[in-house]
Amino acid sequence: MTNVVIWNEYIHEVENEEVKKIYPNGIHNCIKDFLSIDTNLNIKTATLRENQNGLNEEILRNCDVIIWWGHKAHDEVLDSTVDLVQRRVLEGMGLVVLHSGHHSKIFKRLMGTNCNLTWREYGEKERLWICNPGHPICEGLEPYFEIEMEEMYGEPFQVPAPDETLFTSWFEGGETFRSGLLYKRGNGQIFYFRPGHEAYPTYHNTNVQKVVKNAVNFVKPKSKSIWDDIHSPTPKSNRAEPIENINKKGFSVGHPTENKK
Ligand code: ZN
Repeated sequence: MTNVVIWNEYIHEVENEEVKKIYPNGIHNCIKDFLSIDTNLNIKTATLRENQNGLNEEILRNCDVIIWWGHKAHDEVLDSTVDLVQRRVLEGMGLVVLHSGHHSKIFKRLMGTNCNLTWREYGEKERLWICNPGHPICEGLEPYFEIEMEEMYGEPFQVPAPDETLFTSWFEGGETFRSGLLYKRGNGQIFYFRPGHEAYPTYHNTNVQKVVKNAVNFVKPKSKSIWDDIHSPTPKSNRAEPIENINKKGFSVGHPTENKK
């Protein structure tokens, strides 16, 4: 079984009647519904205004993949939550960041850049081109697919160069955008997928659903073991004594981690 947590800010669907019509139970439950067809997935949801943002150490320890949707209240996410999620990603948990999650604290933390982009909310047609038809995340898709109404995201998208770009988008207004990006941080696989503006029924689109489903299966950890050094100020695997018999040359000064063992 793959344990999945779908994390959603869950504010637009509560505050805005039009958004509520599209996602009556929230974006998280819409995603849960189409993922639930895969009986190998054990799915939980969590939202911003639950205690500790609906997440804690135990939930994350047992989580293989977390999906993240946020937009207007990124700042309300606790720094302690970001620390926990980052830690699990470094250990090997998969992370799927959707749409406006590009500005979430966790994505910016993991990217190390401002993750800014250009945007326009005109309900434009988006055409997504598949860059690598042989990649597992693109399985079952035609060479391109279209979303009738979306918010435009345009370049420059200020993220580090990805390990692989799986989708590029074209918008009716003329812009293009790198809309499916893969990264690895520590042992964790991260997939950023652009579509998903709250005012349009994007997560009801079967091609979008396919990508999210494929992504969950791709970014999940392939091993249960955790590399302990990820959490240690001094690497546990550090070898102060050489394995061969050699004479020390030169001199040493104090090392900043020496007293923290
Ligand atoms: Zn949006």
